[in-house]
Amino acid sequence: MADIKSVGVIGAGQMGNGIAHVLALAEYDVVLSDVSADALTRAVDTIRTNMVRQVSRGKIDEATMDTALGRIVTSQDMAVVGQTDLVIESATERETIKQAIFEDVQPHLKPTTILTSNTSSISITRLASRTDRPERFMGFHFMNPVPVMPLVELIRGIATDQPTFDACQTVVDKLGKTSASAEDFPAFIVNRILMPMINEAVYTLYEGVGNVESIDSAMKLGANHPMGPLQLADFIGLDTCLAIMNVLHDGLADTKYRPCPLLTKYVEAGWLGRKSQRGFYDYRGDVPVPTR
Ligand code: NAD
Repeated sequence: MADIKSVGVIGAGQMGNGIAHVLALAEYDVVLSDVSADALTRAVDTIRTNMVRQVSRGKIDEATMDTALGRIVTSQDMAVVGQTDLVIESATERETIKQAIFEDVQPHLKPTTILTSNTSSISITRLASRTDRPERFMGFHFMNPVPVMPLVELIRGIATDQPTFDACQTVVDKLGKTSASAEDFPAFIVNRILMPMINEAVYTLYEGVGNVESIDSAMKLGANHPMGPLQLADFIGLDTCLAIMNVLHDGLADTKYRPCPLLTKYVEAGWLGRKSQRGFYDYRGDVPVPTR
């Protein structure tokens, strides 16, 4: 079984920075990469801010933070990323982007490098089939926010071999997280269940059954959810929610998964949720204000 010491994380958005954060604290050497140099700068700033918060809450000490930050390097050179033992692709949820990334990094990989994707919904088997190592390819699906959420879904493609699964399970253990093993069907377990609920909340808004506030407080107080579904959608990113609904709709060919037109409209407006400061709530002021 491959002994993982270094990890390349491709895509330094809200998930990629969290993944680099937890890996560095678990003593992995991390190469964090992104097509955007600005995204890399922002990611390192976010990781530092989040670790400082952990220090102030007594979760880690300052020396641990400094060592962990020292383990993260950034690079836009695939030759550097490719020399790691494990690559976790966490770029935008679009299949063509992910395929292009795997094509770019592949010539630089060590023969033993394990390739994984943090995709929320795209077929692991199909992504793997375009690479030179479908047996050493699998889904490594973190939850948001990565430093807080204890679950990782591990998804085997049809060709994934047992040593690859075991090596990824060892990384999950070392991160102090728990895995759920999922078969490779659209959106796996968590999002297969969660996303239709979020989409239904958007339909409930679209049809005027409730407004943003009443829908979210109904589900918090009436179903004991820690966050309302529209607040959660903003947190995940509305583009990611729409992409997952499209994968469910196309992959399972069932109209019950059709994305709500209002979700599409928000994405077309560039109102993607927290990451763009506006979604079902407007985050530009001191407190989030519902946009409908
Ligand atoms: P995000 O929009 O915050 O970040 C995506 C990053 O990918 C951006 O920084 C972008 O510059 C970068 N990128 C785009 N094209 C690239 C390329 N060719 N090479 C390198 N980097 C590139 O998105 P996110 O929420 O971090 O989602 C990333 C992945 O994680 C997606 O596959 C998503 O489905 C998955 N995911 C998201 C969540 C969530 O709650 N948001 C949860 C689990 C998994």
